[in-house]
Amino acid sequence: MTAKTQLQVEAIRNGTVIDHIPAGQALKILKLFHFLDTHQAITVGFNLPSKAFGHKDLIKIENASLTEDQANQLAIFAPDATVNIIQEFKVVEKRKLCLPERIKHIFSCPNSNCITHADATAESNFQVLNQNGRIRLKCRYCEKVFDKAIVASYK
Ligand SMILES: [Zn+2]
Repeated sequence: MTAKTQLQVEAIRNGTVIDHIPAGQALKILKLFHFLDTHQAITVGFNLPSKAFGHKDLIKIENASLTEDQANQLAIFAPDATVNIIQEFKVVEKRKLCLPERIKHIFSCPNSNCITHADATAESNFQVLNQNGRIRLKCRYCEKVFDKAIVASYK
């Protein structure tokens, strides 16, 4: 780890740093996970230099931590991200993300004929498919398969 990376990670006292987000994905992640609603101080870095990826985004959230569910969902958008838990300016835990098998509640099905739009008791439920690194989501109800970007942008 370079001295520069160390500084970026250690700039907050307590909280969570999500590092190695693919460049351009940070805003989407902020919105999707409603991090702004937490009213905590949030710092976002765009297009930071990254040895492994060329460029990366980074999100620092003070006094907050990710639940395991959130970390799994994050894995869909940023499979190579690392989640650093910071206490008293120190990284006390580095979590690697792993793709969940299923993702529930978060996204609506983009298929307008899907039963989930008519039946309020049918909660959205997608199977996560990893096809050679390309993440796709399969609706449990209509069994249609969507690219993750389509599902994430559909409201
Ligand atoms: Zn569906």
